[in-house]
Amino acid sequence: MDDLRRNDQLDEWDRGSFFHPSTHLAQHARGESPTRIVKTASGVHIEDRDGQRWLDGFAGLYCVNVGYGRTEIADAIAAQAKELAYYHAYVGHGTEAAITLAQMVMDRAPAHMSKVYFGLSGSDANETNLKLVWYYNNILGRPEKKKIISRWRGYHGSGLMTGSLTGLEMFHKKFDLPMTPVLHTTAPYYYRRENDAQTEEQFSAQCAADLEDLIAREGADTIAAFWAEPMLGTGGIVPPPKGYWEAIKPILERHEILLVADEVVTGFGRLGTMFGSEHYGLEPDFITIAKGLTSAYAPLSGSIVSKKVWEVLEKGTDENGPIGHGWTYSAHPIGAAAGVANLKLLDELGLIANAAEIGAYLNAEMARALADHPHVGEVRGEGMLCALEFVEDKDRRRFFDPARKIGPKVAGELANLHVIGRAMPGGDILGFAPPFSLGREHVDEIVGSTVKAVRAAGL
Ligand code: PLP
Repeated sequence: MDDLRRNDQLDEWDRGSFFHPSTHLAQHARGESPTRIVKTASGVHIEDRDGQRWLDGFAGLYCVNVGYGRTEIADAIAAQAKELAYYHAYVGHGTEAAITLAQMVMDRAPAHMSKVYFGLSGSDANETNLKLVWYYNNILGRPEKKKIISRWRGYHGSGLMTGSLTGLEMFHKKFDLPMTPVLHTTAPYYYRRENDAQTEEQFSAQCAADLEDLIAREGADTIAAFWAEPMLGTGGIVPPPKGYWEAIKPILERHEILLVADEVVTGFGRLGTMFGSEHYGLEPDFITIAKGLTSAYAPLSGSIVSKKVWEVLEKGTDENGPIGHGWTYSAHPIGAAAGVANLKLLDELGLIANAAEIGAYLNAEMARALADHPHVGEVRGEGMLCALEFVEDKDRRRFFDPARKIGPKVAGELANLHVIGRAMPGGDILGFAPPFSLGREHVDEIVGSTVKAVRAAGL
């Protein structure tokens, strides 16, 4: 590591050799865009190679939920690597860490869930759930029931099928996505409703009617599953409008459409409850987990299946032999050891209760400081998630020309003040998803700096 720290060629190597995800490749290679080479981190702060520090208001990519520098997790990873760095989980094999974590996940999952399959990323966990949805309907003798409905503005990953489930244009454009059989329905995004006169409840009823229409057009016996984050994340940090889930759930039940709750962001406490499904009263057939499972100390994800689904999967293997699905790194013991230590820390430090309390303070303070600003259309959030949406004309809900890049500009000014917020895709939206260990003094800094950044961006 010391060699790397002294290395003054890293900038050059970064531009010359490193293919970054979700990056303007040409600008980066030409050296036109800023880089940040992060060296270390502690608590809610990250630090670069020059010793500059930022308050990380987005917990990496809303994943470092317990905060940075937790030696309990680092020690658990080191101990596992020394004792057993790897063994696979195929054909009934396991490791102490993976089995223990499975039990801890199921102890925390809603009571009607049965088992957890471990992968590496949110994308691959959604891919696993997708395969299992198809397998389920094949075992039940419903080979036509295969289409999947997700929502515009949903984010479910960036693989071929998971990128198709994602309802954001930048993840489709020039990649020939979405692939069939994925269909998208109305985003539960009240602020961007077309009809000004609608109440939240009326808008929710319209979302439900749009879903009913889509199902009727396609034929209910061709629709396998509805894929949704309990609350929209990357699509804008948007809590569901009043009455939304109450209107959607009966439609899915009536047409025997499985519900897959993508809890990659909301799982393990981000809404101030263990799962977003509990938060909104959902009883999903599948739950996708990742980020908060290990607080990103090691890559690990999970696909949790319900008892109803599990019974059919067992029947499937009785009829067809072992399930043909697995990766070399499924249930990797180092990730599992990180998960065990992470879930213990969440409990011991009461971090989910802190996320609820401090998240409420963050949302209230942000609203107090900026809700009346003429270019802030909405301040919204839930738990430890908060967003501001910038608009050109507040009264008419007219948005800025995307070419002006107002959201990224505010995020840039905020970074100049040493606070990180995220310019979300699909609008001028500044998002916050801090670690759960955030304190009131950090909230005051985030809000104070955001006010200054909005001003510095010329709004
Ligand atoms: N699902 C949701 C709700 C997400 O927010 C993300 C990532 O942000 C994913 C899935 C994909 O997870 P990963 O980036 O680990 O593949």
